[in-house]
Amino acid sequence: MTTKFDFRSDTVTQPTPAMRAAMASAEVGDDFYGDDPSVNDLQDHAADMFGFDSALFVTSGTQANLLALMAHCDRGDEYICGQQAHNYQFEGGGAAVLGSIQPQPLTNQADGSILLSDIEQAIKPNDIHFAQTKLLSLENTIGGKVLPQAYLAQAQALAFNHGLKIHLDGARVANAAVAQQTSISDVVQYFDSVSICLSKGLCAPVGSILLGDEKLIQKATRWRKMLGGGMRQAGILAAAAKLALTDQVQRLEQDHHHASLLANLLAEMPEFNVDSAQTNIVFAHWQSDLAIEQVAADLAKQGYVFIPEQHLRFVTHNDISEQGVIGFVDALKQAIVKG
Ligand SMILES: *Cc1c(COP(=O)(O)O)cnc(C)c1O
Repeated sequence: MTTKFDFRSDTVTQPTPAMRAAMASAEVGDDFYGDDPSVNDLQDHAADMFGFDSALFVTSGTQANLLALMAHCDRGDEYICGQQAHNYQFEGGGAAVLGSIQPQPLTNQADGSILLSDIEQAIKPNDIHFAQTKLLSLENTIGGKVLPQAYLAQAQALAFNHGLKIHLDGARVANAAVAQQTSISDVVQYFDSVSICLSKGLCAPVGSILLGDEKLIQKATRWRKMLGGGMRQAGILAAAAKLALTDQVQRLEQDHHHASLLANLLAEMPEFNVDSAQTNIVFAHWQSDLAIEQVAADLAKQGYVFIPEQHLRFVTHNDISEQGVIGFVDALKQAIVKG
């Protein structure tokens, strides 16, 4: 079999050999009783590393965001988020379905931010006609873009001045930190709660972390149980997840390097209109008459996988080497010449 280079997402990353070894030898217990030493170790390590009181290991980023929304908001409350926010667009409307929480989506600017003036205008007055605005939810990175630290500080101040809590969907916050050559704790310092995916660029097989104060994590733990997300000998997963935090964060630099290499190589080709890559995601518009589906099918035979759309997204990760990027671009050129 030829080596496969899968550019669809960083969710396809294989757990590292060290993760598999840690899983095989992990000490475990029943996490429902708080008895799993590996889960406890991961949660303590994460809380400490990111500067929060408490952390909760959960099944997915979707679950982490839902728990945060349900812990911050009651039935009939609302959260403000971006129109492009994952926790508005891509989580099945879970906050509305399961939490009776109304989203108030606002336009994302080209850099991924939401104008502070838009946020301020959208906060509902205390009037029986309106849902009560309780939470501002931001995302970083968003569409591979990094929100500036100064913007986060301003958003925090705005939320505070209006009595709102502020949540970060930080599925890829490690990428945001590494791109700015700072720590994750520096990026998340502005937030009351944060969700972080360990199963994307950080290579863990399963799981996300939710961060918050003790009260928020207690509430979230209750909702997690109700949603069927309580796990028992979850230390098997937590052992790999801990290595995501200790061994994989700095490595993301390589993914970013590979993404900018890919962006530069594609930018030399007339068939692509490329956005510059800030982290590990490259967006490019396909502007050839050749059917992109045909090109994708041709490349798939050679082990290069991507989603064929007019607006293309390529994601770099631990299982894509520099050789993989160069080979991919060569194969693209050949497929285009062949027509
Ligand atoms: C992937 C992702 C999630 C959801 O994580 P899952 O583990 O797939 O449920 C949430 N937010 C953002 C920004 C993501 O990229």
